[in-house]
Amino acid sequence: MSVPVFRNYIGGEWVDGPTFENRNPANTDDLVGLFVAGTESDMARAVEAAEAALPGWASMPAPARGALLYKVAEILESRLEQLAVEMTREEGKTLPESRAEVRRSVNIFRYYAGEGSRLPGLVTPSERDRVHTFAIRRPIGVVGLITPWNFPSAIPAWKLAPALVCGNTVVLKPASAAPLSAWRIVEACHEAGIPPGVVNFVAGSGGRLGRALIEAPALRAISFTGSCEIGRQLHAEASRRRLRIQLEMGGKNPTIVLADCDLALAVENVVNGAFASTGQKCTATSRAIVEEKIYDKFLDALVERTRRYRVGNGLEPGVEMGPAVDEAQLETDLRYVRIGTEEAGPPVFGGRRLSGPDYDKGYFIEPTIFAGVTPGMRIAQEEIFGPVLAVMKARDFDEAIEIANRVPFGLSASLQTTNLSRVFEYIQRMEAGLLTVNLPSAGVEYQLPFGGTKESSFGPKEQGPAALDFYTDFKTVYIKY
Ligand code: NAP
Repeated sequence: MSVPVFRNYIGGEWVDGPTFENRNPANTDDLVGLFVAGTESDMARAVEAAEAALPGWASMPAPARGALLYKVAEILESRLEQLAVEMTREEGKTLPESRAEVRRSVNIFRYYAGEGSRLPGLVTPSERDRVHTFAIRRPIGVVGLITPWNFPSAIPAWKLAPALVCGNTVVLKPASAAPLSAWRIVEACHEAGIPPGVVNFVAGSGGRLGRALIEAPALRAISFTGSCEIGRQLHAEASRRRLRIQLEMGGKNPTIVLADCDLALAVENVVNGAFASTGQKCTATSRAIVEEKIYDKFLDALVERTRRYRVGNGLEPGVEMGPAVDEAQLETDLRYVRIGTEEAGPPVFGGRRLSGPDYDKGYFIEPTIFAGVTPGMRIAQEEIFGPVLAVMKARDFDEAIEIANRVPFGLSASLQTTNLSRVFEYIQRMEAGLLTVNLPSAGVEYQLPFGGTKESSFGPKEQGPAALDFYTDFKTVYIKY
């Protein structure tokens, strides 16, 4: 069977070049596609195309831009199953997870399509006689979007849709490990009739293309999701150029389990938070901080449930956890298993690379639990981005909150309790941007602000109405009549 080649999209044209491979991490014999590796000059041309398209797109009535986004949603929805299968093949997450993600991208496009008919500005009374005042939102210009592989459709969607409805033109640089899901959105934008140059797509090495993007004179802003390390570099370079920047980065998200919780629910939430999507969610649970009184009981139930967690090719029914996204991520997971073993002793469950006919062609690791972890250990402090959970003991609620906050990150957190007062104290004291109660630490919805605090995030929040604040500037008007 011939392997499909996915080209870059610049100024409304599909652009050829040398390619790189996109392989299935559950079965490396499966070549999902070949992607054209963009060059620095492709990136420069993409920004120029976005600049040329800006006046026309920015002056189109926002409801008309919204109407085009509705069409994108329809096209994606009509291909939901195909796109979900492709996502599982390129990223490894299970098919139900991929279906839910494509569904979410559809919903995101619909949500921001509707924003085209609102784009709320401000009208306020003036202090002066016979003066009318108001402020309208204007696009900021050409925006660069750099996305990671772990939500290869939803993250591009939640950056593209608000950027476009606000009247900006964009250049999207997807993650090299999983570029197809983002490419499919760009294809849908093309088919929906979004004018040439409004959306541009350049795949290829982040290091080279990132630099070319940031150096492009017409660029006005960057929205980045990925690692803290790259985020820090981009922030320094963007500051030098005085670009607007939004960074969504790593996490070390805790789930606090109190003695008064519903134990079965808490176990289910921790397992789901830690091991769904192979722990490769920025909001995944990587620390369970458990009140002393129920620590042993909780740990037994956790290990028992994890033993039944089914690992395999995400395309197969009943599989709960797919592979690591690639060899490098698997190596990282296994390295942290070694670090954890030195620090806390061998894992109480898992820790090994899986082998056998179902696993040998992929990057499979067991879901892994370390017990008796203390707050200073590296496995309690550093983001692993794999299915490795550190279980820690706390004397009481106060100590649990103190441990939960004792990390540089502040993305998401979860509390398992039936005590309402504790819930409100946690909302006050927990240093994180996304808080859940009696739910896993992961699993957010598109219509609310998304983002963290501390080292996890920088700049205005994404998603919901908050996204408009990043993708627009206010223009304030005073009229004497
Ligand atoms: P990454 O290595 O930082 O890569 C993210 C994106 O940046 C990719 O498109 C990458 O391209 C590109 N890139 C790499 N070097 C660059 C450079 N020098 N300049 C500009 N762009 C560059 O992160 P990842 O491994 O894909 O994703 C995992 C990380 O993302 C984790 O830390 C996770 O917590 C974080 N994440 C955060 C959120 C959130 O909302 N807070 C959500 C999801 C993931 P290449 O692929 O070509 O290298």
